[in-house]
Amino acid sequence: MNGVYIEITDVCNLHCSFCPCGDPGTKAGMTTRVAAPRTFMSSKLFERCITEAATVTEQVYFHVLGEPTLHPGFSLYLKKLEEVSNARTDGKKLQLNLTTNGTTIARSGKAILASPAVRQVNFSTHAYAELPLEEAAENLQDVLDFCRMAAVERPDLYINLRLWNVGDESSNAWNNYMLEQVNKAFGRDGTNENHNADENCAPVTLEHFCSRHKSFLVEGRIYIHQDSRFEWPEQVSGSRFEARETLEGQSVSYPKGTCRALDTHCAILHDGRVVACCLDHSGQIALGHIQEKSLSEILSSPMATNIRDGFANHELRHPFCQSCKFCKRFK
Ligand code: SF4
Ligand code: SF4
Repeated sequence: MNGVYIEITDVCNLHCSFCPCGDPGTKAGMTTRVAAPRTFMSSKLFERCITEAATVTEQVYFHVLGEPTLHPGFSLYLKKLEEVSNARTDGKKLQLNLTTNGTTIARSGKAILASPAVRQVNFSTHAYAELPLEEAAENLQDVLDFCRMAAVERPDLYINLRLWNVGDESSNAWNNYMLEQVNKAFGRDGTNENHNADENCAPVTLEHFCSRHKSFLVEGRIYIHQDSRFEWPEQVSGSRFEARETLEGQSVSYPKGTCRALDTHCAILHDGRVVACCLDHSGQIALGHIQEKSLSEILSSPMATNIRDGFANHELRHPFCQSCKFCKRFK
């Protein structure tokens, strides 16, 4: 597998309108809100998750919903990740691609830079478009300070400054502001260090991005990544899937579509439920519990196999997948 998402918490300190991690029932247009109390994954459960993840992948993420750096054990979990990586006997590593909203980076950045197990940091800077400018600007400044430190201390670290809000005109002012600040921070004014005109140092603008060019290299391994905002699938009733499962072998027609979930990735929620993908924050495709079975066993269960076979045959067999717009990207 390319990666396993481990949701170490579903707590977040921001309340983005496009995310189910907001306050239940208060957001226009959201149909998949989280109503349950928020929790932090226990260290015992985390240890089980990370150990099991190492049996199927070389890369983990620390989110489905939530802001991972808010977990009180975040630094310890980085250490545990390193331990599990170093203990592998197959010659492979286990590395973290951290996705964070960046609001805690001034205090969590040191531990992140010090951990060789962190391979990549993705900053969800599109989240700042909904904050008051002063607060957004402070957050961005912290993120850019971290980028400059990383360029010196960890030149091997990949950093993505994400602007996943293509098509949302209300974010344009923020996007332009952010690019201006990035250009300032990295001296992208169209001239090189000898003060000669140099296209390679041209300021980054929104015009640099399109559906075929979503990533722009700012410096070293620091990128700006623009993409469309994805929509969370609708919650469904599990009984509809069970009813269809019993029809396996008979002639049943399913909506057409495919997805790479269960082949390239899966996710483990903060309570230990294993789900098919990182969009399933509420456990609509709960395949098993990581404390009861190994990850390999869960991924080869009849339900997982049925869904995976469906994808291979261009059939969206699970109702949750049938409401998913993300899978429309895959032909
Ligand atoms: S910062 Fe991320 S997890 Fe938090 S509310 Fe926004 S999108 Fe959701
Ligand atoms: S089709 Fe959508 S909901 Fe289903 S597994 Fe893929 S990403 Fe998840």
